[in-house]
Amino acid sequence: MSQMALPRKRPVLLLVSLFLALGFLGTTLVSYHVSRQAIRDSILTQELPLTSDNVYSEILKDLVRPVFVASMMASDTFLRDWTLDGERDQTRLTRYLREVMGRYGAFTAFFVSDKSGNYYHPSGVLKRVNSLENRDAWYYRVRAMKEPYEINVDPDMANRDLLTIFINYRVLDYKGEFLGAAGVGLTVEAVRSAIGLYQARFDRRISFVDPQGRILLAGDKAAYPDSNIHFVEGLRELAPALLSQKSGSYEYVRDGATHLLNVRYIPELKWFLFVEKTEDSALEGIRRTLYVNLAVCALVTLLVVWITGVAITRYQRRVEEMATTDKLTGLLNRQALDVLFQQSLSLAKRSGDPLCVVLADLDHFKDINDRHGHMAGDQALRRTAALLRQTLRASDVISRWGGEEFLMVFKGCDRDAAAALAEKLRVSLERDPELAIVAPEGVTLSLGVAQYAPGESVESLVGRADAALYQAKQQGRNRVVLA
Ligand code: GH3
Ligand code: MG
Ligand code: MG
Repeated sequence: MSQMALPRKRPVLLLVSLFLALGFLGTTLVSYHVSRQAIRDSILTQELPLTSDNVYSEILKDLVRPVFVASMMASDTFLRDWTLDGERDQTRLTRYLREVMGRYGAFTAFFVSDKSGNYYHPSGVLKRVNSLENRDAWYYRVRAMKEPYEINVDPDMANRDLLTIFINYRVLDYKGEFLGAAGVGLTVEAVRSAIGLYQARFDRRISFVDPQGRILLAGDKAAYPDSNIHFVEGLRELAPALLSQKSGSYEYVRDGATHLLNVRYIPELKWFLFVEKTEDSALEGIRRTLYVNLAVCALVTLLVVWITGVAITRYQRRVEEMATTDKLTGLLNRQALDVLFQQSLSLAKRSGDPLCVVLADLDHFKDINDRHGHMAGDQALRRTAALLRQTLRASDVISRWGGEEFLMVFKGCDRDAAAALAEKLRVSLERDPELAIVAPEGVTLSLGVAQYAPGESVESLVGRADAALYQAKQQGRNRVVLA
């Protein structure tokens, strides 16, 4: 039997785990990325624009009406006539402003006359505007601007300086000459809390940005680290695109998190509406699934590798067994004998203990086969092997040397002891009742014994045992001969 190449366990297991891990990891990650892309797409193309639509219509409801009221004030003939008539009887105007405020639910209503510089308020004249005063700058801006109105967020000095959205409308006389500015104000807090509520309900960040990039209103005050998008990480680079295009979807990275952003321009306010959501919060669900999948994959990989390992170990053990034992008798085959023989010999050389080799050959075995059949011959061989095993020590080496020949190595045994043992074997065969059933004429054994002589080769030692066996055959068989 030629030496078979056994599969080596560790590389096989490594390869199996590598393939499994790669396969599992590949499919898991691919499916994760596909779902992630789908979720991102749906956020960018549906969720955020839809939120933007809703916020837009809510804000319009809140802001467009004041713009409309301010425009009505600016074209009101009473206001213009009263101003052109020299602003006499100021109670008439304050009553008018009170009426506007009450009727339209504005937070405040005002009129600033260009001629007198008076700032009229529902409860009287608040002050005179002064071009040198910083907080009156808005008025001079409105006076100079081309558009009919502006929306401005400013502290309201008439109301504890609370942040207020003012609709500042230019009031013109019948010839188109500038008369002053009129309008209404509403507190930012009301709008802000409305946005905040919306934000909490949908887990999205809502804010308004003016064309200069200033963040005017945000539902969450801590939403951005700066009040201008030009100074916010991630948005800084996008700012030119964000503020030039009228609307669109964007994504950027800030503080290591990916933000998905929808921008919409609101022409009525000349503001940009930003609706944004972090990718992490949206992907939490599928990320958890990813971790579970990876854990399952790791478990399955370990299980398969373990099972494969057990299977290979068993297979290797079987193959090794098959390679070293004789199938018919279960004794060592010649291949295994070579190894054990060398081992025993070098051990004997080192220790100086005696060692004997015994060659045994069944007598007239051909006749047994011829007479009783090959099966009976096999049976006789099996029984002979069993008798050899029974009679000898477990440490002795017994092998099937050829067809019906056996080679035994007796360790720590000199020639006389070996001869005695050989004789014992011969007798046990001769008297065995089982063999007598297989072959009634008797199954006998001839044995040749040789003791190892220091410096002798294996070939010479076995040759001498073989010669002794030959003599035993010559002398009439069923006997032991010492070399
Ligand atoms: P001798 O006493 O001189 O040894 O006579 P012998 O008949 O035993 O002589 P020989 O060694 O020439 O014949 C051995 C026979 O053993 C030949 C072969 O058919 C038979 N034999 C060898 N291996 C097997 C086996 O595995 N099973 C069986 N049934 N017979 C075998
Ligand atoms: Mg024979
Ligand atoms: Mg023979």
